[in-house]
Amino acid sequence: MKPLGPIPDGYTAIDGELAVGGIAASELVDEAGGTPLFVYSRELLDRRMAELRSAMPERLAIHYAVKANPFGPVLEHMAGLVDGFDIASGGELAMVTKAGIDPTLVSFAGPGKRDEELEAAISAGVTLNCESESEAHRAIAIAERLGVTPRLAIRVNPDFELRGSGMKMGGGAKPFGLDAERVPALAKEIIAAGADWRGLHIFTGSQALDAEAIAETQGNVLDLAAKLAKEIGAALPKLNMGGGLGIPYFANDVPVDLDLVGERLAARFAELPDSLVETRLCIELGRFLVGEAGVYLCRVVDRKVSHGETYLITDGGLHHQLAASGNFGTVVRRNYPVAIASHFDAEGSEEVHVVGCLCTPLDRLADKAMLPRAEVGDLVAVFCAGAYGASASPAMFLGQGPAREILV
Ligand SMILES: *Cc1c(COP(=O)(O)O)cnc(C)c1O
Repeated sequence: MKPLGPIPDGYTAIDGELAVGGIAASELVDEAGGTPLFVYSRELLDRRMAELRSAMPERLAIHYAVKANPFGPVLEHMAGLVDGFDIASGGELAMVTKAGIDPTLVSFAGPGKRDEELEAAISAGVTLNCESESEAHRAIAIAERLGVTPRLAIRVNPDFELRGSGMKMGGGAKPFGLDAERVPALAKEIIAAGADWRGLHIFTGSQALDAEAIAETQGNVLDLAAKLAKEIGAALPKLNMGGGLGIPYFANDVPVDLDLVGERLAARFAELPDSLVETRLCIELGRFLVGEAGVYLCRVVDRKVSHGETYLITDGGLHHQLAASGNFGTVVRRNYPVAIASHFDAEGSEEVHVVGCLCTPLDRLADKAMLPRAEVGDLVAVFCAGAYGASASPAMFLGQGPAREILV
């Protein structure tokens, strides 16, 4: 038997069935028109945001990293909760615009921004987090041609990383950001060119659960920002301190101690150097805000035994749940939290493999999981599906197409 990840708080049973937002899974599936289906919960989004706000210093602005989940209704809902949005492509710019989000609350990071993307962002009034000198030069030239003042920040590639993070995005040679020692010269150039100087973006990693490591990194980010501001010779209007807060996906993962992170940050905020006293300070979070608020529902289409092992074959799979299948940045495959949604309050009674419908051995949703007995027609739930599910899986693989999505 292999353990399953922890089911996030807030999911209950109605008449034995998994319910989201007070509605039973089978009813949600009927409402949406079938499986596979991603269900996102407003209530859980609100709850998560409230927990975060109450733990963090009031001064800290919270941004949502759109790439975690760009579903239109989710973006519209997040607009009422967060202070800003971070995008990483022209496609995401179109999505936030369509959701009615004020572009002046949006910043755009990401390597390889094309001229069309720079132009669309500059015209809309989006802040560009420049990833290189040449990108900044292109942005300035495009803004000149358009006759507008571009809002420019610099993304810094720091010399340190976020300890224990699932994806390291800082420290050493990286395609992201500008090496810290080259930042002051470019910042001076941006200011001299008459652009609207927006400050710095320092992102160090993702999916960290260790509050001590997060707090230490945030301290390092503030130190580096202060040092760079001094070298630039101008206060920073804004500092995006990065994010990194993770969620428990696997057995024995422990949630981030938010109070510890908040207390450490408050202590640092109480003794900021002059160059940061007036700075608008924010963090950018994706999975932490939306990951646990989503569940993926698929249906058992076959039940078979091979060499004594039972397989539940579903109509879902890695084409919607690449991360849960273990093929999105994981070294050793471990089970996400998975349940039989049709028998959510029943005890596990048999060891099964839950797989998708794709003709590849990579398409695994749970290995050797102890679950209540499920028959053809029952619904399977994969949790932690609110982030990097629909948006980060190869929906076109094997001609399957995207899953349905609803926000309840
Ligand atoms: C991906 C990304 C995020 C969001 O990461 P999460 O782990 O989902 O919080 C934030 N900022 C940047 C720059 C990113 O690339």
